[in-house]
Amino acid sequence: MKLIKRSDWGANSPKSSYSKLGEVKGLVIHWSAYPTAMSEDEEYSQIKTIQNLHQNDRGWNDIAYNYCVGDSGNIYEARGEGNRSAAQGGNTRQEVNYNNKHYVAVCWLGGSNPDDQPSKEAVLAVKELWKQVGGELRPHSSFKSTSCPGDAWRKWIDGRLTIVPKEVETKEKVKEVSRFTLVKKGDRGQSVEEIQIMLNMINKNQLIVDGDYGAKTLAAVVAFQKKYKLKPDGIVGQLTYAKLIEVNRKKARKVTKYKIE
Ligand SMILES: [Zn+2]
Repeated sequence: MKLIKRSDWGANSPKSSYSKLGEVKGLVIHWSAYPTAMSEDEEYSQIKTIQNLHQNDRGWNDIAYNYCVGDSGNIYEARGEGNRSAAQGGNTRQEVNYNNKHYVAVCWLGGSNPDDQPSKEAVLAVKELWKQVGGELRPHSSFKSTSCPGDAWRKWIDGRLTIVPKEVETKEKVKEVSRFTLVKKGDRGQSVEEIQIMLNMINKNQLIVDGDYGAKTLAAVVAFQKKYKLKPDGIVGQLTYAKLIEVNRKKARKVTKYKIE
């Protein structure tokens, strides 16, 4: 992995000292929503453009991300290691900076169309970065309704996160619904969080994402099941889970205007 330091791409200094990252839960992939940088020179100029936008127009401390990645395979140091990003906000939590504090952000220098594809070099560089960061690998769109970082990255991320039992793996093609587990009232944990996040993306911020399947989550699941003519039992089984993914995908594709964050 070729890391280009801030001094090497001519970064402006941050306006003030950074807030620190908390316990790291994973890596989040973004796109810049600019036309894909086609050379190293274009990557340098695009990252500087983004930094100017964030510092001057948005009035932020610095470029929002921890790292950027170009189609060349270069990783560019932005806020760098150990510092809190400004890329994911915290809209799924009561804490305003929750997702900034717990996730490292990397931004692909490209993607002005939903179906724009990163180069193989960019994907491999992100994979290596993820190995260093550890934890989950998530698209920005898993936190809020946004097309960022595009279908190509989402597809790659889903493929990486798919867990298939060994004996099935050899026979069957990997399907994303195969990572499902039955989720119902009284359950707690990450699978509940994932469902709450998807429900919030469909019906904006109706739930607090606390990983606790209580009465409000139950009501939201039942309403969703009724809307899509599924058995309204409040249990997220394979069909409900698959429908949640499908609806979220359609919704993400419909969003053509988005903010660069
Ligand atoms: Zn984003």
